[in-house]
Amino acid sequence: MPEEAQSSSPYQRVLLKLSGESFCRSNGSGISMSEIESICTQIKGVVEKGIQLAIVCGGGNILRGGEFSQTNSIVAESTAHYMGMLATVINGLALQDALESFEVPTRLQSAIPMQNVAEPFIRRRCVRHLEKGRVVILAAGTGSPFVTTDTAAALRARELDADVVLKATRVDGVFSDDPEKNPHAVRYSDISYTEVLQQDLKVMDAQAIHHCKEHNIPIIVFNYGREGNIQRVISGERIGTRVLRSEDIQKD
Ligand code: UDP
Repeated sequence: MPEEAQSSSPYQRVLLKLSGESFCRSNGSGISMSEIESICTQIKGVVEKGIQLAIVCGGGNILRGGEFSQTNSIVAESTAHYMGMLATVINGLALQDALESFEVPTRLQSAIPMQNVAEPFIRRRCVRHLEKGRVVILAAGTGSPFVTTDTAAALRARELDADVVLKATRVDGVFSDDPEKNPHAVRYSDISYTEVLQQDLKVMDAQAIHHCKEHNIPIIVFNYGREGNIQRVISGERIGTRVLRSEDIQKD
């Protein structure tokens, strides 16, 4: 860590999950470089504080395998999922160049070998990059079909020994109901993994929640669209919703 980069963050190594929606305009699709650039500004601030940052990219702005195979039955479901994984590589490439234009050092690692565009995901190499202050962008999910990049984020967090999973969304956290449809929906400040699973709250998919629960990796769901929120959440400010073990909620 550079000498001037002393962090007051409670976290040393962070896994940030950026869904495909963060790569495009609200309710849009495809790639918007201006959306990506606004995220890069926030990421730069985090990296300058010496936080180790790995980013798992989603691909839903381009293609989601499950949806695609339902409307295009000629394409096998597994093929559609591979297409979805490739979409995350497209996002990863855009994010890499955008971050480097902000002079943030990066590496792109792909779970599907693609040597002309990305390094393969190798855990030890990934950790080394993080230790050297490079942002590692993790693309192609887990490399296997039928799961989502949420699951990839939870698995990578575990493999990389990340202190926290940050789930960046367009809403302010986890709500009792859809806040866009129900004005009485309340935001949870803390909620347990079990409650998320029992109430089927749309935080991350169930497999991802199970992984985080089993290994006690906190998840923080927050709105990345408010300027400075990525830095705020990493500095330990209480924004969004924390998903924790129930005993940790009581202790607090
Ligand atoms: N995907 C997959 N295996 C993985 C990760 C992703 O098959 O390990 C596919 C899946 O079809 C998914 C698509 O890639 O729908 C894009 O990822 P995701 O839907 O998680 O993107 P997000 O919702 O975060 O934008």
